[in-house]
Amino acid sequence: MTAEITPLIAGNWKMNGTTASLGEVQKLAALLANGGGPRGTVVICPPATLLERLNELAAPAGIVTGGQDCHPAASGAHTGDISAQMLADAGAQFVIVGHSERRTNHGETDVLVQQKALAAHASGLVPIICVGEIEAERDAGNAVAVVIGQLERSVPDDWSGHDIVIAYEPVWAIGTGRTPTSSDIAEMHNAIRDQLKSRFGEPGAAVRILYGGSMKPSNASEILRIANVNGGLVGGASLLANDFHAIISAL
Ligand code: PEP
Repeated sequence: MTAEITPLIAGNWKMNGTTASLGEVQKLAALLANGGGPRGTVVICPPATLLERLNELAAPAGIVTGGQDCHPAASGAHTGDISAQMLADAGAQFVIVGHSERRTNHGETDVLVQQKALAAHASGLVPIICVGEIEAERDAGNAVAVVIGQLERSVPDDWSGHDIVIAYEPVWAIGTGRTPTSSDIAEMHNAIRDQLKSRFGEPGAAVRILYGGSMKPSNASEILRIANVNGGLVGGASLLANDFHAIISAL
């Protein structure tokens, strides 16, 4: 990991979690307090229905919250959607945009993802912008080109030193138990870093680049040790306090 960057671990609960799940947050808060607090930023992105309640439980433990998606507009006739402004109002500090499940299930394009990132900034949220190749693209040797293209189109041009987080999530690794090799992760994270630096100069060197895709207690230390991996975006393993705590402890 790059020493001067504060690492970040974000848990993406996806469409999982009801009131009973808040017990896991209380457990995680107790585990973190026993260990003297996390060495980095810890974010939980629950379903929007739990955001405010989770925020109240998590804040004393130094855990912050995020949304899983936002609409590019601040308000309006968009039934079922949620705006960045609403997430901020509910206490969120981050928002995931462009997750592959949104790109696949809702046809989200890089252009839309960029609009969502801009909306996040306008509401004071830090966007966690997700990019990642599908398996056929990796097999064809195109993974780096695909991801760098997504990055170019999804990260706003007029970003100038605002806090922003990139999550590299190979689509074929999400929820499958499979992960790229350490050298494949290193190659991708180095390419992302180079692109951010050539586009944005020095601020590009400070952007946190997370790895996501089947991160779990057994592989977190190895992945988090790779150069230019500044943390993780964790799905399934973020639902249980013990597993998520073990990943946070690997920082
Ligand atoms: C994710 O959904 O962002 C993710 C990384 O999921 P998982 O950890 O379950 O692969």
